[in-house]
Amino acid sequence: MSKYDVVIIGSGLGGLTAGAILSKRGRKVLVLEQNDRVGGCCSTYEIDGYKFDIGASVVEMIPIIDHAFAQLGTTFAREVDLIQCDPIYSVIFPDGERLTIPMSVEGAAEEIGKISKEDKEGFLQYAKKFESFIEGNGLDFFMMPMNTLGDMLASFKKVPILTKFGSFFAMTYDDVLRKYFKNPKVRQSMAYQSFYCGHSPEQAVGIFAIIPYMEHKGIYYPRGGMIKIPQAIQRIGEQHGMEVRLNTNVTKVLVDANKKVTGVVTADGETIEADVVVSNINARKLYLDLIGEEHLKPIVRKGIKSYALSKSTPYICLGVDYDPPLDAHHTLVTRDVDEINEFWWEKYRIGIVPKPEEQFGLICCPTKTDSSLAPKGHHIVALDFQGPSKLASGTWDDIKEEFSESLVDYLSQKIIPGLKEHVKTMVVSTPLDFERRLGNPGGAFYCFQQDLTAQVVFRPASKSKSIKGLYLTGASTHPGGGVPTVMASGVIAANQIVEYE
Ligand SMILES: Cc1cc2nc3c(=O)[nH]c(=O)nc-3n(C[C@H](O)[C@H](O)[C@H](O)COP(=O)(O)OP(=O)(O)OC[C@H]3O[C@@H](n4cnc5c(N)ncnc54)[C@H](O)[C@@H]3O)c2cc1C
Repeated sequence: MSKYDVVIIGSGLGGLTAGAILSKRGRKVLVLEQNDRVGGCCSTYEIDGYKFDIGASVVEMIPIIDHAFAQLGTTFAREVDLIQCDPIYSVIFPDGERLTIPMSVEGAAEEIGKISKEDKEGFLQYAKKFESFIEGNGLDFFMMPMNTLGDMLASFKKVPILTKFGSFFAMTYDDVLRKYFKNPKVRQSMAYQSFYCGHSPEQAVGIFAIIPYMEHKGIYYPRGGMIKIPQAIQRIGEQHGMEVRLNTNVTKVLVDANKKVTGVVTADGETIEADVVVSNINARKLYLDLIGEEHLKPIVRKGIKSYALSKSTPYICLGVDYDPPLDAHHTLVTRDVDEINEFWWEKYRIGIVPKPEEQFGLICCPTKTDSSLAPKGHHIVALDFQGPSKLASGTWDDIKEEFSESLVDYLSQKIIPGLKEHVKTMVVSTPLDFERRLGNPGGAFYCFQQDLTAQVVFRPASKSKSIKGLYLTGASTHPGGGVPTVMASGVIAANQIVEYE
């Protein structure tokens, strides 16, 4: 039986960040990962010479990532070879019109002005407003613990700009877009980013309307693939003694009679003792399966079961032997914002797969940024379009092939001429595949929904209130899913563990 100060379940960015920081602070840390590689949703695999990313395709909100690397005594830019994406994205509207958004705010205002003169001014006002949030250290909100109401009130005291943005927490993302932009096309060009926090514009909290603005502050791709970020954190952690064990599935968290963790058990029956256990997995799976309902008070059992799973989508990675006619690393294929909002109620919730002509989503062509990801003259096209997590009838395995072929066919005819004829390799990950690969129920990208009812103090606490010595990192806990935010959760957990000791 081996003994560690800290055992971490899962090598997603949340778990690795906590592990590396704790190792640097002298703790004996072991990270256990069920997969054959680190990074979870922020990772990369190679097939036929194409390096496909599993999930995340860019990073933004860089000050939050910088904060995590600062805890490790280094900088993001020093550890990862970052390539700036400029233009930051392009948009294809339902009528075929295209808009390409450059990094510079002035340049973007000019482009928006070509669609709507009054919205050019609206964009500058929008940018000024969110710049004031950043200048007022508003991003600190995402880096502070939020386990209690007291934590939340303290954050408003420490960061006064949050009070000034109070109405943005009460508004929806859609409300914020309507406040600044009159033209429906201009709103469409910034609506899809609400899905970066897992919700349609009418469900996402208004403060997340900062996302399109944050892209102007810097949006980057790590040369060599998204896995370079978790690999960098692993490398730093290992320099401080952190151990990472791959292909090791944790099946149980051991809890004693005093409701304190004592270690974990792996699928091959090994018991590993630890004073502290950090979970980087879905909190529902953690509490109900790995810990067990018998250790939880009825109110905790009920509470954890009440969290609705976040959205998932099918994700199609294509290796192609031509240069696809796309203008940027990210291309948004958009629709009218009302149709985007209706998708959730009329399709997603009841398990209906949209027809190709009803689709909207994101096309990522990372080889426009980093040509080393594919053989010479080849590109990667990744399609993140819509489909419910659970189907009204049958499973994703039944429709996987038909879904992907009809979508590629449609996009080839209407949006990316030549795509279908040039596909050399295709890998389709449905919500069911995401569930199998990451052990995440429903393949939920952000574990739980990120609306007002499941955010901040309403999200599972990073320091468990029911089990001593148990800490949560990753998308299940504040500040929720996304590369920078889960890294912030790792910093929060590491700091709390040091306080706990
Ligand atoms: C398709 C997609 C696109 C995305 N795009 C972006 C983007 O462009 N930018 C962005 O910022 N964010 C993006 N995200 C979100 C971001 O990637 C995630 O929120 C973040 O990486 C999740 O990190 P995490 O720490 O929660 O852990 P996860 O990535 O969920 O990793 C958890 C790890 O735990 C392991 N595990 C699970 N159960 C066990 C067990 N029992 N024992 C051992 N190991 C276990 C899993 O194998 C996994 O490696 C995207 C996500 C997806 C799915």
